[in-house]
This record gives sequence, C-alpha cells and structure tokens, in this order.
Amino acid sequence: MGTHTDTGAATAIVNAAVYCCDDAFGSFNPGTVVFSDGVIDAVGPSGEVDVGESATVIDAGGRLAVLPGLIDAHSHSSLLKGYSENAQLIDWLPEYQREHQVLTPDDAYFGYLVTYMESLKGGTTTVMDMYRFGQRGAQAATELGMRAHLVPYAADHPTKHFFETLETSEQLIRDCHGADDGRIQAWVGLEHITYCSEAMFEAARELADRYGVNIHTHTSEQVEEVELVVELFGDRPVKVFEERGILRPGSVLAHCVWLDDDEIEVLADTGTGVAHCPVSNMKLASGPAPLQHFREAGVTAALGSDGGISNNSVSMWECMKTGSLLQKVTRLDATAVSAAEALRMATIDGARLLGIDREVGSIEVGKHADVITVDLWQPHLMPLALAEGHDPILWNLVFAGRASDVRDVWVQGRRCLDGGEICRIDESQALAEIHERTVDLLERRKSASAIPMVAD
Ligand SMILES: [Zn+2]
Repeated sequence: MGTHTDTGAATAIVNAAVYCCDDAFGSFNPGTVVFSDGVIDAVGPSGEVDVGESATVIDAGGRLAVLPGLIDAHSHSSLLKGYSENAQLIDWLPEYQREHQVLTPDDAYFGYLVTYMESLKGGTTTVMDMYRFGQRGAQAATELGMRAHLVPYAADHPTKHFFETLETSEQLIRDCHGADDGRIQAWVGLEHITYCSEAMFEAARELADRYGVNIHTHTSEQVEEVELVVELFGDRPVKVFEERGILRPGSVLAHCVWLDDDEIEVLADTGTGVAHCPVSNMKLASGPAPLQHFREAGVTAALGSDGGISNNSVSMWECMKTGSLLQKVTRLDATAVSAAEALRMATIDGARLLGIDREVGSIEVGKHADVITVDLWQPHLMPLALAEGHDPILWNLVFAGRASDVRDVWVQGRRCLDGGEICRIDESQALAEIHERTVDLLERRKSASAIPMVAD
C-alpha cells in the first residue's frame, strides 16, 4: 500500500487506550500506534512496540484513546440545516428541496465545506455524501484532507429537473473518481425511486458497470413512503430495485427501516449493504430499522448521519449511541448492540460497506493511517481504571463520548485536526464565508416553492 504523502518521519502515539476495530476487536492499554508515509507500521502494547529513534512521539500518558477514523456511511451536505423542521418525511422532502431549486455550485461548495468541517472535527475521516455538484465536494474534502465518496442526487422526473442527471454523474466520475491520491471516489446515485424512471435505473447500472463504481440510493424510510411505492409500482421498494437490477455486491441502500423478511433476504442474497441512520430515523419519526435482522441475515450494515438536514448533526458519536439505544428500546433487550458493535459499525463495517476495508476502517499494520485521538481526561469520560478484566473506557466512549472530545485526526498519515483545530484551512475565515453564502442562498430560496413528492 505505498502512498505519496507529506508525512515525512514516523509518528508514534504511545501510552494510549488503543482500539483497533480489527476482526478480533483487539485493544491495548497502554498501547502504541506507529505510522509513517501514510501507512500504519506497528500497533501493540506500549512495552513491546519499538518506536524508533526518529519518530515524532505523542505521549498520551494514559489520557488519550486512539481509534480508527470514523466513517459516515450516508450523509447529505447542506448549508441549510434547521430550516426544514417538524414534518413527516413526505412533507419534509419537498420543503427541503426548495434549496435544490436554486442551488449553485458555489452554494454547494460551502455546503460541503461546513458539513465536512463538522465531520472532521468529530473524528469522521470518510463520508459517503449524496448531494449536488460533486466536483465542489471533492474540492472541499481535498482542502480539508478528508476522504469523500460523492454520490450525485440524480433524477429524471420532469418535476425534479433541478437534480443531477446521469450525464453530470458521468462527468463527476471522469473528473473526480480516484482523485486526491484515491481519497475521493464518485459513485452512481439515484434519488428517490418516485423521481427516477425504469430506464434511468438501467442506464445507472450501465454507467456504474462502465466505470467500475458502485450504486447508492435511499429507500423505505417511512411507512407511507413504502405504501406509495407499492401503489405506484405494484411491489415493495427492494423488490422493485431487484427487478431493476441495481442490487448486487457493492450496492448500498440507506435507511431500509420498513423492510419485510423477503426484502431482507433479497439484500442478503444479492450482497447489498445498508446504511442505517438511527438519529434521522428517530427525528423524522420514521421508525426503528431491523438492524439485528440485517446482521442475522448476513447483510453488511453500517452507520450514517443522514446529514445535518434531517439530523441537525453529523456526529458519528451520536449515531453510535443512538443506534445502540434504538435497538435496545425497540427490542426490550439491554444486550442489543454493545459498545464494541456500535464502534465497529462506525469504523470497519463502514469501510466494508464502502468497499475500502482493505485500506481503512481499523488500526492494522499495512493499512492507511486514518487515525484519531480522543481526550479521555475529562469528567464525562472518567473513570479510566480497568477492573476485573472489564474496560469502562470503551463503554464510556460510545455512550458518553462527543464529537468535541476528538483532539487529533490523521487521514492517510496527514494531519487534518490538531488539538481540536482544523489545520489545513483557516476555520474562522471559512465560517465567515459560509455564513455570508447562507444568507445569500436563503434570499434566493424565497423564489422556490415546494414541489410535492409525486406530481400528477
Ligand atoms: Zn438520506
């Protein structure tokens, strides 16, 4: 896994609580992680790992946790969070789409930037993002040093003319797939099934085949939405997707809250994965996804924020905690989704879902150094003492940890966050520009009225 980075000498984080998120869910405390040239060179107990003479050493002194970078498997960048509120999905979507009717590439750039800044500060190193003008997303991610899988909101229904098309999607693949040393990927996206014709599905599959990229869409978020699809197409959404040929290994469906057993079996049989968005599903009153059934059926499921628009946060910490709590309370089972399972979903399972698990998602020798540190030396993350073989730190990270606890982020060995500060761009200048652009977009949005979900 040779890489070209600007890291120079090795970095060693020593005397930390290290959670590898590998298959064995290995952890070391006190543990050491060493990386150089973007690649993890060593991980293990601090007493056993040779740090080398020239390494830059960060001595955690037992006060930092080290985790793989978090992966947000389904997000939507936006400048406008907090404006479409208090509505069921079917009413919420047309209101949200007012922004898209007037969105320009410059608006999109700042939407990407503000969202990725928030993601990065919370320890997210990779995001799968369905939005518009993806070239500008590649620009924002590259400036910050993050990984982004860009998925255009594409549709061909005449009333949704403002969305991307398969032509612009192809252009995005040509422009950006594999850019920034492979950290940027472009996928083929399909907006809601009610906005995309059968012919568009076929063309989307051909486009994905032609460039060897995957397909992503979202579905079955709400009961009324599934009923609408059954009414329009005569079958449940996942069955329609199967007929239209987009389900296969590498394909990812977001949400999947209201699937029946047959649909879950179809996902398992076709190797299709799920991006589960617990916070958004609760906020939009969608319901609890059958996460345990996905796992039992062997369907890869990871966590997504669904973006600030329906979550008001892109914190993967909130997704981990909420994802666990939602399963516990709906199954009346306190053992559902342990801290380790939640962390795995936000790391290695996310990497698996996005098809990048050979490169990232865990702290293992030879993998890319997507590594974060978390400040444990705070009242809400105490205690740090292991007792009787039990580790409270992992549980407290998942159930008490916050995005603002993240101190340092490296993506492929390149420092992107330093002591909680974004280090590759000027954060306060960016915020000023983002604010100015938001005010401007809101002014232009006045001219756009909501277009219903399905037009007659
Ligand atoms: Zn979504």
